[in-house]
Formats: sequence, structure tokens, C-alpha cells
Amino acid sequence: MAPEMLYQRRVPLMLFFLCCFLNGMSLFAARPNILFMMADDHTSQAWGCYGSRFSPHFKTPHIDRIAREGMRLKHCFVTNSICVPSRASILTGQYSHVNGVKTLRDTLQPNQKHLGHLLSAAGYQTGLVGKWHLKSVPTGFDYWNITKGQGRYHDPVMYEMDIGKPLVQKDQHSTDVFTDKAIRWMKERDQSRPFCLMLHFKATHEPWQFHRRYAGLFANVTFAEPENMMADTGPHKSRIPGWPLEILTRRMLARPDHGDGFLDLSGVDPKQTRRETYQKFVRDYLRCAVGIDDNIGRLLHYLDESGLSSNTLVIYTSDQGYFMGEHNYFDKRFMLEESLRMPFVARYPREIPPGVIEEDFILNVDFAPTLLDYAQVPLPNSMQGRSFRKQLRGERAEGWRDSMYYRYWENSKERPAHFGIRTKKAKLIFYDGLEVTEPGNQWELYDLKKDPDENTNIYDAKMQARMTRELKSGLKRWRRVLGDVD
Ligand code: CA
Repeated sequence: MAPEMLYQRRVPLMLFFLCCFLNGMSLFAARPNILFMMADDHTSQAWGCYGSRFSPHFKTPHIDRIAREGMRLKHCFVTNSICVPSRASILTGQYSHVNGVKTLRDTLQPNQKHLGHLLSAAGYQTGLVGKWHLKSVPTGFDYWNITKGQGRYHDPVMYEMDIGKPLVQKDQHSTDVFTDKAIRWMKERDQSRPFCLMLHFKATHEPWQFHRRYAGLFANVTFAEPENMMADTGPHKSRIPGWPLEILTRRMLARPDHGDGFLDLSGVDPKQTRRETYQKFVRDYLRCAVGIDDNIGRLLHYLDESGLSSNTLVIYTSDQGYFMGEHNYFDKRFMLEESLRMPFVARYPREIPPGVIEEDFILNVDFAPTLLDYAQVPLPNSMQGRSFRKQLRGERAEGWRDSMYYRYWENSKERPAHFGIRTKKAKLIFYDGLEVTEPGNQWELYDLKKDPDENTNIYDAKMQARMTRELKSGLKRWRRVLGDVD
């Protein structure tokens, strides 16, 4: 661990425990309220506290406040980088092959027990507001007010406890509407019981239609490009030999007609088209992100003024990461870092020391076990994740995983199904959905220490024999342990 990390971890921790001791406060006596806020596709590159390359033009002061007053996870990962499955894994604490929600088309069945049911049974008041996206009518929540499917950015249609009764929110933006409903629910709740509210924004999912009040934002800004955005014009023409780049990226490029308004690029050469499309995409996306940050500010203000800040665990995360031009991609799905990483911040002044960055590997299947831990509900055997409450307290969790298993199930020619293992040093990916003539061409191997941006696939069984052998045996072990053995 680097010296600055030790400082970051120890000094606030000592002060924190001293304060607790002086107050004679029992750390674990009360069960906290839980405000779990989640965005759709809001990637770490577009969070100020993750060191966004879009600074200083782009800021997220309210998200950064949660990180400053609480903890930020550096290595939080999704187990299947796509909206519907990630949401199902978060609720059930299970990998996709166990809860059955493997692709965008799958449904979380109403009889599948999840976090909401368990918290309700333990006396929590449970609410769900915003994007649900799991097809079925929600169960396990005392209150829900949701959109169907992807929902709309402008004039969103909400369904409040009745999927047959649409209510159009005229002349409003979804991020504002969801926040209004969340605050209203917290105001009107039964004050005698703790609550868990899940607030799921539609932003920053494509087509990045921001509120009109942000239309002038970033008007004269040219955003920095990732170094590997133009990579296919350089030496790394394809990540995998024999995998034609034009097939791989055809559905991974932002288009001029994505987002708000059309970008007229007639007569512009292909290289410049890519650059201008990127600028438009980033501008629209970040305007949606600012909309979330402003609304998180409103929510934090409400918690402050209502006296809820000290006994509420506040979490903000995203259902997965997202490419913002890296490898010349937008979208998610691939096991590469930008898509795999879930940004995650949490604040709970009674227990989480301020300003700490946690390095352990945390997965989306750990979320439900952790929230159950706070609610003092025993962890059911059916859940595959583990509680990371210890890490959130700034303590070391013994026997914690030092690698993680990932599997993307949806299969198409452009975005083939794959699975893999990520350790602290390397990543090995196997594309089971890719049709190749030579077996070696289904693998990707990255040395994350030497090549953190994953620009060079070094898979070559002879050259990297030892590394490959160890990773393959780790991958096999995870598949056996997790029961993914097709
Ligand atoms: Ca998503």
C-alpha cells in the first residue's frame, strides 16, 4: 500500500473512533436508514472524485461530498456489464447464471426473493422509485413508483403501485421527477421504522437527453480525448487477431444522431467525424450527469435539514461502467476496465470514516449482503456475495477475494459473449461467443500493471505460459465455486 493510502486510511480512522469513544456511542446499536441511489451507465470517468479527465469544466460537487464524508471504492466491479442483469444481481446477491437474468430480455420473476423482501420482513419500510427494468411488476417493496422498460427522459410516464395506470409527468425531466417522488416518499413515510429507498435514475443512459436548463453548459469546451480513442488508426488495429475491427466496433461507436439534436457532419472526413461525434456525445452525456449531481444535492440537503443525515447510509453507484471513447467505444458489455468498474461512494457518519478509498475487490453481488448486514438480517445461503461492511468501517476483512469472475451472456457478432478473470495484476478473457478459425484467437490477456489501459493483447500461450496457466486455473476455480460449469 502506498504511504499516502496509509495516511488516507489511518488518520481519519483514528479521529473517527476517538469521536465515537468520546460520545460513548454504540456503533452497532441502531439500524440505519438506507438511501441507495443508482444511475444507469454513469461511469467513473464522469465522476469528479474518480479524477475525471473532463475536469475542470465538469464538476460533481455533491457526489464528491459523499466521497469526502464517506468512502469511495476503487475496485468495485460488475459481474455482467449490462443494465437488466446487473440490477437483478444487485437485488438477489447472485450471479446471472443463478438468478436466471442473463440478458436484457430476461425477467426477474415476482416470486424470486431479493433484498427488498428480506428488508421488509425485518421491519424496514421499503421503497423503489425510478427505473426498474426487470420486466415483472415489482415485489418486495412496500411502495413503488416506476417507469416501464427504459422510460423516457422528457415527460416521463410513471406507474405508482399500479402497472395499468400510467401518469405522464408533463414538461418535466425524469431525473427531477424521480428525485421529487423520492423526497415526497421520505417525507410521508412511517417515522417509527427504518427505511430503505432505492432511487434509480434513467440518466446517463443513451440517448442523453438532458434538461433544457443545461443546454448552454460546455458550449465552448473541447473535451480531452482518451489516448486510445484513435487506436484503430495506429498499431493496435484489433484487440484480437483475426477479429475484424469493423465488425467489433460497428455497434460500439457513438453516432451523430445520438443524443439531443442531430450533428451535421456532411463533407467532414472520417477522422474528424469521429472526433466531433465524440465531443457531442461527451457534452450530452455530461449534461445528463450534472442533472444527477444537482438532484443528489437536493437529496443530501433534504437529509440534512430533516435530521436524517447522521443515521442514514447514503450510497450512490451506477449499474455498470461505460466507455467514453476509450478503444473508440461507447456503451458497456466488454470486460475491459471502463465497462467493468462500478463507481461507488457511501456515507454513514456513525460508522464509515470520512475520506477513505477502499482497494478491495467489491462486486455488485455484495451489495445485498452488505445492506442486510446493516439491517441485522442473517445472510441467506442463496446469496453468493459477501458483506463488505468491515471494509466500509475501514477495517481489514480476512480472507477476502483477490480475483473476480465475470461473464457477459448476451451474444452477437459485434459483441460476442465472453467470460474471464481479473486479478490485481492481470486479466484473462475468453470469448465463447466468437467464431474463429484458430482457437488462440478467442483469448485476450492484459498485464494491468504494465498496460492499465488494456491496449495490447499479450495472449500467447508460449510467451506468457506461466501467467496464462495461473489465470486459467483461477478461472476454472471460480467457475466451479460459483457453479457456472456449462
Ligand atoms: Ca446500465
